[in-house]
Amino acid sequence: MSRAISKARVTMTIDEEILQRAKKRAEEKHIPVSGLIEGFLDFFSNPKVYCFDCGKEFHSSESELCPKCGWMKCPSCGICRCDLDEDVAKAVFYMRKVYEDLLVGRME
Ligand SMILES: [Zn+2]
Ligand SMILES: [Zn+2]
Repeated sequence: MSRAISKARVTMTIDEEILQRAKKRAEEKHIPVSGLIEGFLDFFSNPKVYCFDCGKEFHSSESELCPKCGWMKCPSCGICRCDLDEDVAKAVFYMRKVYEDLLVGRME
């Protein structure tokens, strides 16, 4: 990422236990907790995914939703759920569900 960085100071209240767990994990991975939160907020405000067919990454904001299946269409190859067979679609569905749980809502 090569954008001008200006940092803001934030005060927030987080569940003590979750914070301790996160701190421990972050220490193991040598990332500051603030970096984790920043990364999540970045993802939350503009989710980035990888196309399940061509593998190119794209932001959900640059993709169109397929009117038929309601999934994001890959801007590079145009694939959506309509082009997948049942087994693959099921796998992708549950992978995407992790994202949606994280984002507390549908990805679109
Ligand atoms: Zn693609
Ligand atoms: Zn579709």
